[in-house]
Amino acid sequence: TKRVFSGIQPSGGLTLGNYLGALKRFADSQNSGVQSIYCMVDMHAITVWQDPDKLKRATRELCAGFIASGIDPQKSILFNQSQVAEHAQLAWIFNTVARMGWMKRMTQWKDKAGKNQENASLGLFAYPALMAADILVYHATHVPVGEDQKQHLELTRDIAAKFNHDYGVDFFPITEPVIEGAATRVMSLRDGSKKMSKSDPSDMSRINMTDDADAIASKIRKARTDPDGLPSEAKGLEDRPEARNLVNIYAALSDQTVDQVLAEVGGKQFSEFKPMLGELAVSKLSPISSEMARLMQDQSEIDAILRHGAAQAREIAAPILARTYEIVGMVR
Ligand code: ATP
Ligand code: MG
Repeated sequence: TKRVFSGIQPSGGLTLGNYLGALKRFADSQNSGVQSIYCMVDMHAITVWQDPDKLKRATRELCAGFIASGIDPQKSILFNQSQVAEHAQLAWIFNTVARMGWMKRMTQWKDKAGKNQENASLGLFAYPALMAADILVYHATHVPVGEDQKQHLELTRDIAAKFNHDYGVDFFPITEPVIEGAATRVMSLRDGSKKMSKSDPSDMSRINMTDDADAIASKIRKARTDPDGLPSEAKGLEDRPEARNLVNIYAALSDQTVDQVLAEVGGKQFSEFKPMLGELAVSKLSPISSEMARLMQDQSEIDAILRHGAAQAREIAAPILARTYEIVGMVR
């Protein structure tokens, strides 16, 4: 049976990239009848330094972001990772399955560790093994993610396959990535070769889901572009990453294809298109951010949702972990 898992790190405030690459897709697929498990991956977040008070706030705000984006905690399981110990327990097993060479090839490791790899945390290096555990501890068959996580998902498949092979079992499923539609990769507003990210030091590089209308309009107005106008078909954007990014965002926010958008706006200058994009972004994001603010007023309700979700998650994870220990040869 089909089961969906996806996670988001409480490593800062949510961005438009998280919304279009993750939250909006989750909400859009909610009524497909498939069991979905969504996790605030706080244990991933601490692979780079997080201030403890900010981590708590970001976790609750992330939960509010899920709900405000339309994910219903009655229909989907919503919880934070550290409340379900099975993730860390299975991750340890996977640390012994994954190979150093596999981890060293991960572009997220290279990007986030930067030049000083010696000084990066061991957890940052092992991140993909924990992510594999997040997914496989539920035997999830499908993982909707942005394109930036595709390589990690391939590693999850490699870990599942190697485990099955090493122990001579057919136990862990080979999970399918679900990556489709426009804007599976939203790029930085300052640099079309970098993805938009909540941990980017420059706030001007991203649109935060909690930005007000003025901030959104001004960030889009200042977004980097080239001097040309908009083409009338998608192939006219090929060597223009910044221009393509803005059109992609417009398409994703308005549920259109890039060609549909260009049929409408082709020939316009960016001075005319940017205010249109700003207005569209504000109209989509402001109802979500005001709902987030409302939810954040009652912390105890958010905490209760996370606790309830964690209990539901544990019911699925515990027998899968127990069976894994049995396969590996741990005496119980
Ligand atoms: P960090 O900078 O701390 O890694 P992030 O913004 O990359 O934060 P994650 O928590 O790593 O966010 O990812 C959460 C989800 O959002 C994942 O499904 C990921 O694929 C998606 N996502 C993140 N950034 C983008 C982006 N720029 N475009 C599309 N999807 C994205
Ligand atoms: Mg990321």
